[in-house]
Amino acid sequence: LIQPKRRPGIYVIHIAAEMAPVAKVGGLGDVLTGLSRSLQRKGHLVEAILPKYDCMDYSRIVNLKELDLELHSTFDGQIHKNKVWCGIVEGLPVYFIEPLHPAKFFWRGQFYSEPDDFRRFTYFCRAAMEFILQSGKRPDIIHSHDWQTAVVAPLYWDIYVPLGLDSARLAFTCHNFEYQGAENSGAIAACGLSARDLMRPDRMQDNSFHNKINLLKGGIVFSNVVTTVSPTYAQEVLRPEGGKGLHGTLGVHSKKFFGVLNGIDEEVWDPSTDVLLDYQYSAEDIDGKFINKQKLRERLGLASQGDDEKRPLVGCVTRLVPQKGVHLIRHSIYRTLEKGGQFILLGSSPVPQIQHEFEDIARQFEKHPQIRLVLKYDEALSHSIYAASDIFVIPSIFEPCGLTQMISMRYGTIPVVRRTGGLADRFVLITELRFIRR
Ligand code: ADP
Repeated sequence: LIQPKRRPGIYVIHIAAEMAPVAKVGGLGDVLTGLSRSLQRKGHLVEAILPKYDCMDYSRIVNLKELDLELHSTFDGQIHKNKVWCGIVEGLPVYFIEPLHPAKFFWRGQFYSEPDDFRRFTYFCRAAMEFILQSGKRPDIIHSHDWQTAVVAPLYWDIYVPLGLDSARLAFTCHNFEYQGAENSGAIAACGLSARDLMRPDRMQDNSFHNKINLLKGGIVFSNVVTTVSPTYAQEVLRPEGGKGLHGTLGVHSKKFFGVLNGIDEEVWDPSTDVLLDYQYSAEDIDGKFINKQKLRERLGLASQGDDEKRPLVGCVTRLVPQKGVHLIRHSIYRTLEKGGQFILLGSSPVPQIQHEFEDIARQFEKHPQIRLVLKYDEALSHSIYAASDIFVIPSIFEPCGLTQMISMRYGTIPVVRRTGGLADRFVLITELRFIRR
């Protein structure tokens, strides 16, 4: 007869460098949106703070408007002005910070890979924290992600708690321990933190290069809870082979460190409603998959008539970086050809040498009836490939979680993976591809 008292939802603010579909480079973008929407559906209040990049997909932001406030933040010992914009992304309130700084930090035509990334993102984090303080927000949780926003944790305790912003506990998620944001120790002073205080082995001193400060380590040491994106990867990074130098730090903080398996947003990734597909289909009506296959073959100039119609189509959508097993991807292109299949690769590389290598392969197969390489980022084409393929290859050397195997399965496509990280937590392993021609 007594109704249990309903717990009010919690108030979460994410501070992050990516958010799909407006600013996405890889899985971080998908997870930020998917996790936030999922928490929102459960009745929690979720907001996000992002840099206002020039290269965002502004068409996916609803009601973007500039807030009527002057945000002043400190950098290099000086006060700088920022504009703050607000808009709705996939139903979530998002604040975008636009620094009025001469370095035009987020006016570069790309999200990452700028020589001053350490300065760009430490500036952003300081301004984001200043925004939370000045706007009087009292979040229960401030959730930061990867090295780009890891500095939020030391900023919170060293600068913002003393200023009265003390309602929150800090969550930090590392989506990939390979990228750590290590820089000469003096660089940390720009955002107002003290190198002298933080350059200690138990704080932010890099474990390998002792003259460097390590932002990712700061996120681990100073957050209340630290997560990574799959249980297997959480085990791997506690060992020297997987921890990229941070296994010792994670070991010390192991009581607050957990692996929580990522998921995909099943409303965003749904072949029965996906407007980017030529034909929507579902498990009850799988024939539509074939229509997508034929349309994609036609669009990319692959053979689609007669016996070619029956060839299995192997897909791969990836960032082309060593982590993803680029040599195995290359091998699977030639192996697929040898075995009588068709192969479509969609990928691009921030590593010039890898990009050039794949450009050479793309040229070799430019007009080939069975192989196509598309070397760019293309959201719409990625959906078509998930839908059209029979098999999807993910031969990662290490993989914190991986979303493409989950998306593939959602689209009725069999993922073939190396057994590592999140791929071991949710995988289908086929050791040998045997193409059966009907
Ligand atoms: P990572 O975050 O390491 O890049 P994940 O598997 O976690 O790998 O997430 C990759 C996400 O990025 C998926 O949504 C995938 O479809 C997308 N993606 C990767 N490369 C491309 C590309 N060239 N074009 C479009 N989408 C891409």
